[in-house]
Amino acid sequence: MSLLTGRTAVVTGGAQGIGFAIAQRFAAEGAEVIIGDLNGDAAARAADELGGLGIACDVTDASDVDTLLAVVPNVDILVNNAGITRDATLRTMTEDQFDQVIAVHLKGTWNGVRKAAALMRERKSGGAIVNISSLSGKVGMVGQTNYSAAKAGIIGLTKAAAKELAHHGVRVNAIAPGLIRTAMTEAMPEKAWDQKMAEIPMGRAGEIDEVASVALFLASDLSSYMTGTVLEVTGGRFM
Ligand code: NDP
Repeated sequence: MSLLTGRTAVVTGGAQGIGFAIAQRFAAEGAEVIIGDLNGDAAARAADELGGLGIACDVTDASDVDTLLAVVPNVDILVNNAGITRDATLRTMTEDQFDQVIAVHLKGTWNGVRKAAALMRERKSGGAIVNISSLSGKVGMVGQTNYSAAKAGIIGLTKAAAKELAHHGVRVNAIAPGLIRTAMTEAMPEKAWDQKMAEIPMGRAGEIDEVASVALFLASDLSSYMTGTVLEVTGGRFM
């Protein structure tokens, strides 16, 4: 028997990158996987590879999140992974860039947590929610006042929700990845990449599968006595 046999898992922003690796890992462990992503075609294509379902969902829109969670009658696991960056220094960041990043990460995660928790409570089935934060939310990164604020906010949200939901058998935890090799981070200028590499005790970037395995741990009964935690997947950077 696999770790997630008989469970249904929803992953936001799961059409690519870290979210897709999580969806893939969950499917390999027996879960039925539903992918929600801004681009509905990309979500459907990605889910198809895993024998699951994929639909368009903008996590900033509460009714889209309702629709995503209604694809299946029972949601056991939700991963709030959807994300964007709009990096700029304080001097140049526009109000729109600030609002967009806060909306996708913070409001999007809040929408996912509250909507999934309501369903899990109603069914009295318990559940596991995993929120993707970032090392940027712990230490703050230059050019990311919007992203660092949103990712730090996700940590507060995770802990508050964990306290509210513990007695309903719903666990809420977060992952703070460091530098993970994805299309987004590989587009970084070489100088910025080398500078980050020098900060990582393990001397390398992380792979998406290394975030997915921690998500699996938090989503499964392997972490049955853990809630409100933030697990850093960073190769030791900024420990
Ligand atoms: P990607 O950009 O590869 O994937 C993010 C996905 O989220 C995309 O498919 C994107 O769709 C989707 N998305 C964006 N906005 C929304 C929205 N409003 N509603 C639904 N889906 C949306 O990023 P990563 O895989 O690198 O990152 C995944 C998560 O991990 C993010 O939360 C990110 O902040 C976090 N993270 C990543 C790190 C890294 O090093 N890569 C480090 C720390 C944290 P589309 O492409 O159509 O815009």
